[in-house]
Amino acid sequence: MMLNWFAKLAQKLRGFFGATYILQYVEDEPIKLTNNTIYVVGDQDFPAIATFNCPCGCMQAIQLNLIPTKNKPSWSIDNLGGMPTIAPSVWRKVGCRSHFFIRAGKVVWAKS
Ligand SMILES: [Zn+2]
Repeated sequence: MMLNWFAKLAQKLRGFFGATYILQYVEDEPIKLTNNTIYVVGDQDFPAIATFNCPCGCMQAIQLNLIPTKNKPSWSIDNLGGMPTIAPSVWRKVGCRSHFFIRAGKVVWAKS
């Protein structure tokens, strides 16, 4: 009884404080993205692309290039303790124009 109550409360709090992401390595880009999952195409040593649903709820897929190149912006992903951190911030220039950080699996909205 008690456990059930706590589980329900935890679920509510998670919803209130926003998405928590986990990271999953995949060989190919998934066709359907599950919310709260960051898919990294490639493996730990050679990550190529990160793709995940926008945390604002617009359901648009965000793709980040993880291969450092001179001509394209690139991001890095750290998966310390199974809680992914993406650097630098993600800023959509189209659609919802969301600007946020993902730190230790949590979405942190940028002030701008
Ligand atoms: Zn969005």
